[in-house]
Amino acid sequence: MIDTESDKPTRHHPHSIPALIQIQAIHDEHWTTSIIIEVQHLPYTSTSLFNSIRQLCRMIFSPLNKLMTWGDLVNKLHPFEQFNFFDISQVTNTFNLQDYFARQWNTAHPHTADCVARHQPIIEESISDDFLVCLVNSADLDDEFDPTHPIDDYNTCICPSEIRPYKTKNALWSLQKAVQFTFNLTLDKSITLNTWSCGLDLYLHTWRLDTEKRTRQALIYYAISDLFASTYLYFHFHTCSAPSDNLTYPSSINNIQHKSHAPAMFFIITDSHGKYFPPIIQTPSYKLITNSISGLQWVNTYNTKLCTRSLLLS
Ligand SMILES: [Zn+2]
Repeated sequence: MIDTESDKPTRHHPHSIPALIQIQAIHDEHWTTSIIIEVQHLPYTSTSLFNSIRQLCRMIFSPLNKLMTWGDLVNKLHPFEQFNFFDISQVTNTFNLQDYFARQWNTAHPHTADCVARHQPIIEESISDDFLVCLVNSADLDDEFDPTHPIDDYNTCICPSEIRPYKTKNALWSLQKAVQFTFNLTLDKSITLNTWSCGLDLYLHTWRLDTEKRTRQALIYYAISDLFASTYLYFHFHTCSAPSDNLTYPSSINNIQHKSHAPAMFFIITDSHGKYFPPIIQTPSYKLITNSISGLQWVNTYNTKLCTRSLLLS
C-alpha cells in the first residue's frame, strides 16, 4: 500500500512541495511493515546511504509487486520522480483501491426500487388536444443514468445518502468517507494542513520545543493511519467478496448429529449489511437463508416494504 503527502501551496511557495512517500509492505492480513521516506531530507546522491534507499525503492516500485493506493498511483508519484530514486516507468502493476471500493460498495448497495423506477421507459399516453404545462427539473434532462451500468452513481439518484452518499457519475469516494461508511470510524484529517516536509524524523533535529516534537510524532501517526485505513478496507472487501454464494461445510464437522433429524432452518432478514452474507448457508445441522433489503428499518411509517415490523406482521 502506497500513499504520498505534499505541502499545500502557500503565498511564499506557489507550488505544492512533495514531502512524504509512505509505504506499507503487506506480508499478510496481520503483519505489515511501514516505511516513511522524507524526500526533502534525503542524503546527498553521492552517498552510499542514498544508493541503498534507491536500491530499496527500485525493489519496491517494481512490476513484480502489486502496488495499491487510494486513487491513481502514477499521478501521485509524478511529483516525486524528480528525486530519482525510483523509475516511474516500472510502476505498472497498480491497483486503484478507490475505484475498487466504489464498485464493491455500489454492488452491495444497489439503487432502491424507487430510484430505479424513475428510469423505466415511459408508456406514451393517448394524445389529447389539451395542452399540459410541465415544470421539469433541469437535472432530470441531463440524466447520467446508464442502463448498461445500473449500479453506477448518477445525478438523479434519490436513494438515501446512508446507502448511496454520492450522486454524480464516477464520483470519487474520499478515504475518510469510505472508512466512516464501512467501519463507522472517523479518520481524523484535521492535521492535513500541517507541514509534512518539516522533518518528521526526530534525529533530523528540526525541532526545538517539546510541542514541536509532539507535532512530528502526531504527523507520523497520521501519515501511517491512512495506510492502515486503506489496507483494512482492502482486506475487508477482498475477504467479503471472496466466498461463493453457497457455502457448504464438510460433513465431518457435524457428524455427531443424528442424521434422521431434518436440519433446522433459520431465516435472517437484514438491512444492506446482510449483503455480505451468502443468500444460503447449508450445513448438515442447519440452513440459514438470508434476505437483505437495502434501507430496511425496524419501523418505517412511510414505506411498509422497508418496515421490518410491517413485514413480520403481514
Ligand atoms: Zn439511487
